[in-house]
Amino acid sequence: MSSRPQPSVLVSGAGVAGPLLAHWLDRAGFTVTLVERAADRREEGQNVDVRGAAREVLRRTGIEQAALVEHTTEEGTAFVDEHGRPRAALPAAQGESDGATAELEILRGKLSGLLLDLPAERTERLFGDHVTALDEHADGVAVTLASGQRRDVDLVVVAEGVGSRTRRLVFPGDPVRPLGMYCVYVTVPRTPQDDRSWRWYNALEGRSVHLRPDNTGTTRALLNFLSPTRGLADLDPAAQVTVLRRVFRDAGWETERVLAALDDTPFHFEDLAQVHLDRWSSGRVVLLGDAAHCASPVSGMGTTLGLTGAYVLAGELATAHAHGRPLTDATATYERRMRPFVTRAQDLPPGTPAIANPRSAWHRQALWTGLRVLTSPPVRALGGLAGRFTRPPADTFTVPDYPALPTAAA
Ligand SMILES: Cc1cc2nc3c(=O)[nH]c(=O)nc-3n(C[C@H](O)[C@H](O)[C@H](O)COP(=O)(O)OP(=O)(O)OC[C@H]3O[C@@H](n4cnc5c(N)ncnc54)[C@H](O)[C@@H]3O)c2cc1C
Repeated sequence: MSSRPQPSVLVSGAGVAGPLLAHWLDRAGFTVTLVERAADRREEGQNVDVRGAAREVLRRTGIEQAALVEHTTEEGTAFVDEHGRPRAALPAAQGESDGATAELEILRGKLSGLLLDLPAERTERLFGDHVTALDEHADGVAVTLASGQRRDVDLVVVAEGVGSRTRRLVFPGDPVRPLGMYCVYVTVPRTPQDDRSWRWYNALEGRSVHLRPDNTGTTRALLNFLSPTRGLADLDPAAQVTVLRRVFRDAGWETERVLAALDDTPFHFEDLAQVHLDRWSSGRVVLLGDAAHCASPVSGMGTTLGLTGAYVLAGELATAHAHGRPLTDATATYERRMRPFVTRAQDLPPGTPAIANPRSAWHRQALWTGLRVLTSPPVRALGGLAGRFTRPPADTFTVPDYPALPTAAA
């Protein structure tokens, strides 16, 4: 470890990427402040996938086994018709990177909890607070928080997810690009009919209803619908329920069961989007995870990119410090290394998300037939377009070795 004074870093956002970065910087001897807007740990969210490069990051962090134990128990995807009959299927992953159901599939809240439980003894944690002003000066950044507290640090990392507000203080314009689909996540009671597969029902008119098993005794439901109208995610919950009842009226299959749960269960209403920025850093402020480059849940890559980026950023910062180079050199190298990986992950298969949410019965039949062909062994073996639909590019990145990062927890 370097004998230079240890740098100080403020990380804003304690979701997935933020806590992992805080842990690794703490492990490397940095002074870290982790700020989270929510008053407590956020348990919400459904299944997220940890694939390829991110599996290697969890391995190096020492929590791969703990994450595997938390597997949601999902065994693959069944595309069902209005009677619940399977019409096409995607098997669960055979390796660390492929399949709609990843080999390491975990509830987001569980993963975030595992990361927040990692040792970070030198890290100050401030929940229920957020950044209101950033003033960069010659030696660092003066940060003002909503609570009135102030911190003067060498670097600020913004890991606040797709709708980051601190990003707006530094990066002009709106980098959020909606994909034209809303996703509504809600947890429903498990019934005896709920099996271990992700049951995916295309209700036509651009709507789909999903039921997925979890490892906590409930079922995770998802309502997706294509819409040219933006702003529905900003409505109050009662208005959103009214919209959902109208959109999913007469959708069939188990839709009524999901709609019924909306009355007394909190739900998460998201306007599916990606984040595209020409640069991820400005001076001593750098973006991480979804705040920098959200690829959207349909990419199956958001968590993989967030975990991998957190490790790479920690490694580059520790390396720059060890060699007496400015931390801003490290943020540039982090972006250079991660950018091609992110670009591949954001390049969604043609027609996404409309192709998987058919409007007409003819289109739905074509989807089922296409899936049966794409997932047949001979076509899978060919890779190419078939691979683009069934295998996100998680193993196209080699996680660098960072001698400046300690291999065992201090
Ligand atoms: C509640 C929630 C549920 C999700 N559910 C799913 C899901 O079901 N499926 C899926 O594929 N992806 C889901 N995601 C996205 C997924 O977590 C990310 O794509 C991925 O893990 C990368 O994580 P991240 O740390 O960059 O961002 P996130 O996981 O979004 O974490 C960002 C964190 O920053 C906090 N934050 C926001 N604004 C501020 C602020 N101004 N100051 C301080 N903190 C702030 C948020 O509360 C959150 O804890 C969810 C995200 C959230 C926040």
